[in-house]
Amino acid sequence: MSKDLMRTAAINLKKAVPLMLKHQIPTTPTNYALWYAYVGEQHPVLVEKMDNLVAQYQTCPPVNAQLLYREHLSDPVEIDVLDMRQNLEAMTLELSQSLKDTNHDAKGFQKRIDHNFEQLNRIDEEGVSLEKVLGLVRNLVKESDDIRTSTEFFTAKLQQAQQEIDALRGKLKRSEKDVYYDALTGVLNRRAFDQDLAGILSQAPEGTCLILVDIDHFKGFNDTYGHLLGDNILKAVAKRLSEACRDGSKIYRFGGEEFAILVPKSHQRKARHLAEAMRRSLEKVSIKDRRKDQLIDTITASFGVSEWHKQDSPAELIERSDGFLYDAKRLGRNRVMPI
Ligand code: GH3
Ligand code: MG
Ligand code: MG
Repeated sequence: MSKDLMRTAAINLKKAVPLMLKHQIPTTPTNYALWYAYVGEQHPVLVEKMDNLVAQYQTCPPVNAQLLYREHLSDPVEIDVLDMRQNLEAMTLELSQSLKDTNHDAKGFQKRIDHNFEQLNRIDEEGVSLEKVLGLVRNLVKESDDIRTSTEFFTAKLQQAQQEIDALRGKLKRSEKDVYYDALTGVLNRRAFDQDLAGILSQAPEGTCLILVDIDHFKGFNDTYGHLLGDNILKAVAKRLSEACRDGSKIYRFGGEEFAILVPKSHQRKARHLAEAMRRSLEKVSIKDRRKDQLIDTITASFGVSEWHKQDSPAELIERSDGFLYDAKRLGRNRVMPI
């Protein structure tokens, strides 16, 4: 996640928590996510519904919260990341609370010690029984014991919290990675593609090319050899295309059996050469089907290549490449268009 997103997350959380306190919302992960989304204002309908609920009940009743959450924040991966960020935040809060508690304990202890010493001074002046002196000493020992236990307790808590934070950080990192990678093929996913393309086009898009790849008659492989083998073909194709990427070009799984390659700072002729190399390299892929004891070596794909034109939106660039891909299919597949 970028620094900007992190900053937005922190700002939204700072807005969300006071609102939750105000409306007496329990600090569960679901509620955090809900109110986080509420202040983020990305979901106008959610904001409207929440406002109505609060107007009606002065709070958001738990069942309504669950329904809102399910209806508006159902992207599980995104929630996971949010959830963990909030856990981190909650942990930090708890930690500082512990710290305050211990400080508080220490202050109380200081008072009691002072009191005991006062008593001891009085003994000096007034003379008291041995029994009373021993009593005071016992008190002092016990109270230093209390403060020691409290410190030990805090240290243990601190260590535990640190471990949990480390574990969560690791998880967060991994799930942030998951957000941008396709689980089956391991290449970047459509979400990453959309963000990267928008990013490139907002900066220095001159020479940016987009190659769209669609595996030929892929449905036939699924039908003949089964879906699992279809998956293996997808993995093999993704791997082969990734290996062929060079000079900063990046591959994404664009959809089911379609891939996109973003080629920066290039031009159409150069990108077509790259696509042609990829096409030839795919022809050499072969996969063994154990069930039928057959070698599948007829995997091919069609390619559409276009270069960014001034003023092109992401959709326009995609449409142009898609048009060429369609031509390649129409003309018999296993080819790069335009020629
Ligand atoms: P064409 O040459 O015109 O592209 O024909 P095609 O059969 O490749 O195209 P079509 O769009 O008809 O079929 C694509 C198939 O890809 C249909 C869908 O079941 C399959 N598919 C999509 N995603 C996956 C996946 O993750 N795994 C498997 N095994 N199949 C998938
Ligand atoms: Mg397709
Ligand atoms: Mg296809």
